[in-house]
Amino acid sequence: MTILAQLHRYRDAKPGPFWALLGVAAISLFGMVAAFGTAPDTVVIAPPQRPVVEQLARPNIDALDSATDIFVREERVQRGDTVAALLSRLGVGDDSALTFLLGDAKAAAIFRQMSPGKPVTAKVSGDGTLSTLVFPLNGSKDQALVLDHDNGGYRISEQMLPLETYVVMKSAEIRHSLFGATDAAGIPDSIATQLADIFGSDIDFHRDLRTGDRFSVIYESISHLGKLVRTGRILAAEFVNDGHTYRAVWYEGMDGKGGYYTADGQNIRKGFLRSPLEFSRISSGFSNARLHPLLNKIRAHKGIDFAAPTGTRVKAAGDGIVEFEGRQGGYGNVIILRHQSQYETVYGHLSGFAAGLHVGSRVSQSDVIGFVGATGLATGPHLHYEFRVNGVHRNPLTVALPAAAPLAADQLARFRDQTLAEISQLDDLRSRNLALLD
Ligand SMILES: [Zn+2]
Repeated sequence: MTILAQLHRYRDAKPGPFWALLGVAAISLFGMVAAFGTAPDTVVIAPPQRPVVEQLARPNIDALDSATDIFVREERVQRGDTVAALLSRLGVGDDSALTFLLGDAKAAAIFRQMSPGKPVTAKVSGDGTLSTLVFPLNGSKDQALVLDHDNGGYRISEQMLPLETYVVMKSAEIRHSLFGATDAAGIPDSIATQLADIFGSDIDFHRDLRTGDRFSVIYESISHLGKLVRTGRILAAEFVNDGHTYRAVWYEGMDGKGGYYTADGQNIRKGFLRSPLEFSRISSGFSNARLHPLLNKIRAHKGIDFAAPTGTRVKAAGDGIVEFEGRQGGYGNVIILRHQSQYETVYGHLSGFAAGLHVGSRVSQSDVIGFVGATGLATGPHLHYEFRVNGVHRNPLTVALPAAAPLAADQLARFRDQTLAEISQLDDLRSRNLALLD
């Protein structure tokens, strides 16, 4: 596993109402004030794709701001902290702010939510007067209480935190499992499941992974004051599975609809998923060893059994219409989907069906249709999955699957233009990986 580089890029950072006020604080965290020579109170939109190989030290904010007689400070709440002590560390010199907070009903949350480690930002003038205080709220990851000095008085309101979006690039090699690799590389779970979704038409992440498989991923990371708020979307990824290289890049068409495409503009999505099971930390570790011999004895086995814990979500393998939903002999609770005219997929032994699903319902690929169970002739929880072409059972793992619609010809030039940067970043990651392997 190698973390090759981190790339910082401001991307669709949404300026909130007090974003400008906090410009200095936000910029300082990324060590960009000195680099860009900007004046305080300026929101910097950094040029895209500026690589920062290591985290830069924070510049001395006080020194930078002394000329303007305004100090922006960030302090973390400490164990056993009081609001008074916190304000004092933030450089607030007069009591009026604290007096206001003590008497305001909305401010009560501040006293209740002094969680150790929480970053609190304040803008304080030279004489110790508090002009802005930003206090992130517990429970909601992107809301904060904001106290503003206003016409000699104070005003408190709940606002969106000013968020910054980084682009992160990471590479990892698989030793035992996908989650083992992503954990080692510090990649969030949501990125691992996104990877499994993106490449789900080509790779069955429950069965196909091999030791030595490797991947590179470029994704958005959304944070406030350097603290991760949530993980965004994968922008591009490369997955080398059993010697085959797959690449995907996110592209948003002129109609605003986005999707993942191969480097040459083919839709990465095929007509059917390789595995109809949702890939998760729980399902990925489930053993395939204790599969039932019972069904095999009773009748010729016409499908594939995916062992998974009861309740694991089952996804529609392709766009289709519900042809059957209910109990049927050894299948137990079963759903049969029809796709176009010649394909059917069958999902057996379910513990339950997705709410609102009924015969005739239209489903899209990857929609959750039911949950793994052990109903019917099953000795343990698993999904029995069949793939039929013109009524004939075929092995879903080997059958040639129809591809989804490619990008329209008139969009290709725009696609190439917009994805050029990500593709060359993937090239970069690959050549560095190869260099490390030599
Ligand atoms: Zn089966």
